[in-house]
Parts: sequence; C-alpha cells; structure tokens
Amino acid sequence: MNGINSANRSPQVAARSVEISQPLEELSWIPRPKLLALRRLGIQTIEDLLTHFPRRHEDRTEFPHFPREESDSPICLCGEVIKTSLRRFGGWKKIFEATLQESEANALSEPLVCRWFNLHYVQKMIVTGQRLVVFGKPRLRGKRICMDHPEFEVIENDEEISIHFRRITPIYPATEGLSQRVLRSMIYRLLNDPAPAGLETLLPDALMNGDMTRAAAIRAIHFPDDWQQRDSAREHLVLSEFFATQMLIASRRTDSSIRIGQSHCGSGELFDKFVKSLPFELTGAQEKVIAEIRRDLAAGHPMNRLLQGDVGSGKTLVAIAAMLLAVEAGYQSAFMAPTQILAEQHYDVLRRWLDPLGVRVALRTGARQEESGPLSLFGPAQVPFRVHQLQIIVGTHALLYESVSFSNLGLVVIDEQHKFGVAQRARLAMREPAPDMLVMTATPIPRTLTMTIYGDLDVSTIDEMPRNRGKIVTAVRDDSKLPEVLTFLRTELERGRQLYVIYPLIDESEKLDVKAATAEYQLWRERLRPFRCELLHGRIAPVEKHQIMEGFRRGETNVLISTTVLEVGVDVPNASVMLIENAERFGLAQLHQLRGRIGRGEHKSYCILLTSTQAKEGSAKLAVLERTGNGFEVAEADWELRGPGDLLGTAQSGLPALKIGNLKTDADLMRHARAAAISIFEADPRLEWPENQRFRSLIVEQQGRTFSNVS
Ligand code: ADP
Ligand code: MG
Repeated sequence: MNGINSANRSPQVAARSVEISQPLEELSWIPRPKLLALRRLGIQTIEDLLTHFPRRHEDRTEFPHFPREESDSPICLCGEVIKTSLRRFGGWKKIFEATLQESEANALSEPLVCRWFNLHYVQKMIVTGQRLVVFGKPRLRGKRICMDHPEFEVIENDEEISIHFRRITPIYPATEGLSQRVLRSMIYRLLNDPAPAGLETLLPDALMNGDMTRAAAIRAIHFPDDWQQRDSAREHLVLSEFFATQMLIASRRTDSSIRIGQSHCGSGELFDKFVKSLPFELTGAQEKVIAEIRRDLAAGHPMNRLLQGDVGSGKTLVAIAAMLLAVEAGYQSAFMAPTQILAEQHYDVLRRWLDPLGVRVALRTGARQEESGPLSLFGPAQVPFRVHQLQIIVGTHALLYESVSFSNLGLVVIDEQHKFGVAQRARLAMREPAPDMLVMTATPIPRTLTMTIYGDLDVSTIDEMPRNRGKIVTAVRDDSKLPEVLTFLRTELERGRQLYVIYPLIDESEKLDVKAATAEYQLWRERLRPFRCELLHGRIAPVEKHQIMEGFRRGETNVLISTTVLEVGVDVPNASVMLIENAERFGLAQLHQLRGRIGRGEHKSYCILLTSTQAKEGSAKLAVLERTGNGFEVAEADWELRGPGDLLGTAQSGLPALKIGNLKTDADLMRHARAAAISIFEADPRLEWPENQRFRSLIVEQQGRTFSNVS
C-alpha cells in the first residue's frame, strides 16, 4: 500500500513510534540538505513538520475535461506534454510554452497551452512526453486556451502515485530545495511510519465537535478522504489554535486581576479644579471613560485598560484627568509617547494645563530634559507633596527602561498603543508594586481583532467628538487637477488658514533621501509663494524640529511640508487644510490618522488626497475616506483590503503567529474559543481543577512561542 515505507525500512528493526517533540535530525531518513531547507521554513521538530499545514488542496481523484472557455476560478488539470517551445519577445524577454493534451482526449478536446514568462528554471523541468498536473486560470488568447504561470507538478513515477495523485492532494508552502513532492512524501511517511506519539487533544468539551482527536485531525488535514473530512479537521485545528491563544490571553488577564496592586486614586479635588479650568465642557463620552478609569484606579488590583478613540476625540485630556487622580493620591504618573516630537508636544500641553495647578511635570527624552520650576515653593501650593518629587514624567517609550525618575510610580499612560506591543506591556506589568496602566490608541481596529489583540485589556471607548469640531471634507483628486487644487489651497491660505502637505518619501525608519525632500520643499515654496513654508522630516534634529513645530503652531509658518512624522497627535487648530501626495501609497488607516491632524478647530477643514494619474486601482480604495469619517468604518474597510497581517505581527501582538486560523474568515471560531477560555478561568482562575490541569502546559508552551517570536 505504501511504497516508501516498505522499501526503506529494514526488516530486522521493528518500527518504533517517534515522539512529536523529537528534532527531525533524529530521523535517519531525512537527508541533511532537506533538513537545512526545512529549517529555512522554521521547521525543526516532528511536530513542526506535522503542523506545516497545506495552504490548499487539489482534487486529484478525478480531473475535469480540458476547458473550452475562460474561467475566473482556478482549476486543476492533468495532461501529457506534446510540445514545448521557447520564444523571444521584446528583445531579451523569453516565453516558454508547454502544450498539454488531455489524457483521454476526444474529438472535442482542446489542447491547453501553459506559458511562463522569463522563468528560466521551468524550461529545464518540463519536457515532451511528461505528464503534468497544472493549477491555474484558463484564459482565451486568440484561439488558444492558455494558462499563464500555472502551478505545476510533474508526475514522475507511479510508485508513489497513492501519495501524490488519485486523492485530495495537499499543496504546501514550499521553498527552494523542498518541492511539493518532497514535502508531501515526508509528511506522509511521518504519519504512517508508524504514527508519531504525543499528539494530545487539548480542546475543552465545549469546543469538541464529534469525537475527532488531534491526531486524526492532523492526518486528515494533510490527506483527507473527502472534502467534508478536510473541513472538520480544519475546524478542529483552528479551534485548537484559537483556544490556545485565548487561554494565554485569559491567563494574562487573570494574572493581573489576582495580583495585588494599590489604590491610586485621590479624592478628586485637584481633578475638579482641572476640569473647572478648562475652556470647554467634557463630552459625555469623556465623562463616561473617566468614570471607568477612576473605578479602576481606586480598586486594589492593577488597572489594565485600553482607551480607544478616534483622533481628536480628546484622549489626552482623559489621560491628564487620570494622572491627576493618581498624583493627588501621592503617586507619580508616567506619560509615554511613541516619538520625541509627541513627547515634547504632550509636555507642552501638560505644562499649559498643569503649571497653574502647581503640578510638577518633567520631560525625559534623549534631546530635552526639563522640569517645570518648583512652582509649589512660590505659587499657591495646592497639593501636598515633597517639592523635589516629580509628579508627572513625560517621555518616549524609552522611559520603560529607566528607573531613576520613579520613586513611587502609580500610573503609566501609554499613548498610541499600536506601536507598543504586548511584550513591552508585560515588562511594565512586572514592576513591583504593579502600577495602573492605561494604553491609548487612535487606531480603531475591527471588533474581531480587538478580542485577540487587546484581549487581555478592559476597553473604554470614546465614541463622541467634541461639539466644537469643524467638519472635514475629504476629496480624492488625480494630479491632472493640480492647478485647481493649488488655486484652492491659496484661497484657504489667504483666509488665514494653515496647510499641511504630506508626502510619502521619507519614513522615520527609512534612509533619508535629503535631496528628494529638499527638492520637494523647493517645489512647494515655488508653488505657494509668497506663503512661508517649512520642511519637517524624521532626520531633522529634535531641537530644530521643535522650533519648526513651534513656528507653525504660532502661525508664523503657513505651510508645513512633512513626512508622516506628523502622523500622530500633532495639534494645531488653525491648520485646517491638508494635502496628501501620492495618497494611494498609504494605507487607509494611516490616511485616516493623518487626516485627524485637521478639523481640530472651528474652521471647516479640507483633506485632499492627491493620486498619481497612473494609479487608478490604488486610488479606488480611497473613496472610503470620502464616504466616512468614522475610524471604525475605515478600519473595517482597511482590513478588508489588506488582511490582518500587519495588525497581528507577532512582536506587536505578543501572541504566537497563527499557523492555520484566519482572523477574518474564522472570526466565529475565535468567538467560541474566547468564550470557552474565559469560562474556564472564571470558574477556576488558577487552573487547579483536575480536568483543567492539562491546559497549564498549553499556556506555558504558548508563552514560550510568543517570546521566541519577539526576540
Ligand atoms: P486625541 O489625543 O484623542 O487625538 P486630543 O486629546 O489631542 O485628542 O484633543 C484634541 C483637541 O481637542 C485638543 O485641542 C483638546 O484640547 C480639544 N478637546 C479635548 N476635549 C474637548 C472637549 N470636551 N471639548 C472641546 N475641545 C476638546
Ligand atoms: Mg493624542
């Protein structure tokens, strides 16, 4: 039944079952070069190889007749190569064609022409007389039915036919030196030589559907008997994966809720004074979330809360309120921003509001180290505290690694959470005694992701904008409309408004192309003469950056030409117009963030998304931004377009990478898994019950996979 097994196993040695944790080196039948290739795919142990899941399956039980029409969905066909040819076109380019004939051709059969452009290796692999399985979309080209760049597999000999053909066949993510055939043969042998031990089923009863074990599911995901079995196996494995993830999240959540913290909440006098000093009223949403935070601050266990709110919804204010409550109780608060510019801006905002209240604020960044004067010595000392004790320390995330400034840290506020991963958060939580933690994000994410990415946090949402906000009109224009756009910009500038011009050339992390930036700057100065322009990008020294920002804030500069360093948190109410160049190169969520820099004052604001004329497809997605100003809707649309890859980068999420589950299409399974994990921890927070013991190793293992990912 199984060619490779009987051929290679020596008859004297009884087959011993292997353990899934064993490294593949211990299997003598895998040649060294293949081991190295496997390692490139991150596969080291037997379990790694068994969980190298197929990316799709092909039904090779019976091949359909060759098509006579085009088709938009790819199909799988089998035939014999009757002709090959190599043609040149456009000078140096080459096109290789292999014509296939259906195995049992009849009078109606059309041959199929498979074509590969400039793929040298294909022509070395395919010769006349071979049988091929191909997978791709048939297209009508002239009178011929063609398949361009199909995936293909050569049928080499009939010995292994039961593995590769006449079945629903797995197709794997492959790599150089590891063809489909090789991977498939290895996995087949692993499963049958004999089946390895140690594949434990780790699903709670609530998630079991039928009695499929993990071992059976693994076998069936690779070599299913039919499609239904494949689907059940997949569901089992996805649930297992999601359940493990949610158990890790639930354990983190439970750990922090049973840890002893301290109450960090003052009586609220200082807070009330602050609120009274504001030139506006808090929105209902701000009041609601402040109440939620206040409850957490007062509670004896550490707060782990996420504050979600669109750009401009007034999160900074909520953060200040929270910090004042902690300060008033005699604790220090730390306020961490993702960049220096933002830290400095927060510092300035805080001083503006808090100097009059006599609160001592300090800035700690690489470039500037400042403390507000000892006002309390001279001014009205409203708050009882030691004069030299800093009460609020503002800085970048580097504050995390600093301990000198803190003597009794009670609250940490982290701005713009998406740049601050779970691992960093965990580092904070390990401080003794545990401070309360408030993370703020202006990047709304789809609900189904929230329960995973922020699953270990309580969530507060600001779902209301301050009333005094001007409307933002967003318009997509291609660059043939530049003259009209320029006229419009000049009109707004003449009215006294200020303008941001954003261009995608320089990212803070990218290597700076100073020449290009300067050219851009010169160009805009010409276009908008005589208005004053300044250039801002990530490589400008912090002191200078600060001066440029200040000049703009004071209205001395009319136009700020900038890279996306402007992305988060910058706040100049009179800047009501934004032009984004090559907007099609940005993601929707990022554009929405950028757009949040305007519409901050009472003026009507305009966001113009300029696209290059050639980028028709890229600019179609931008219509979403014309339609809605709601960050959650943008996030959903962005997710539809891009997939979750970026959002669940492991270092960011602090969760192990998913091997089989899909956060978008399997959202329901995630919900089930989450409910199951939560109910287990609710009933048995320390996993002490006998039937829950088995889940402990699951969590430890997940933890291990997470931290090996992060490093
Ligand atoms: P976020 O951090 O959520 O993007 P900010 O906290 O920077 O928003 O607030 C944006 C602007 O709105 C700031 O100028 C702030 O002073 C102002 N603001 C905050 N809350 C209110 C409110 N309730 N009414 C009016 N303006 C507000
Ligand atoms: Mg902000």
